[in-house]
Amino acid sequence: MSGTDEDAFRIIASSPEGVLQSELWKILGVDSRKCSRIVKKLLDSNRVERVEYRQDGIKTFRLIARKGPADPYCLLAGDELIPCIACDEDCTIESCTDLLDWMYQLAISDAEESSSVSKKSEE
Ligand code: SF4
Repeated sequence: MSGTDEDAFRIIASSPEGVLQSELWKILGVDSRKCSRIVKKLLDSNRVERVEYRQDGIKTFRLIARKGPADPYCLLAGDELIPCIACDEDCTIESCTDLLDWMYQLAISDAEESSSVSKKSEE
């Protein structure tokens, strides 16, 4: 998929209520025909859904990103799985020490990963 397709998807996904197709081509800086081709690719790959929408009596479409399955790596901090997976506590996110510890571990593992990437690029 080209950068423009990815750009379009990112723009659509950045808004929970979606983006009007009649606005998308202007945001992307492409003409409406090219935008239609981009939208078709996103529809064919099932990454977005299209809902009919009337704006000032004119028919257009609202494009809404489909939610994909969660990336399993987003549930890991190093080797530690997010504690919410197996939790049966009454949840109060703001004061959960298990989640706080996991987030601390996430920050450490991200920092370690960044450090190892920069060391490799120096070699
Ligand atoms: S935030 Fe804490 S209490 Fe809530 S589900 Fe996750 S681990 Fe359990």
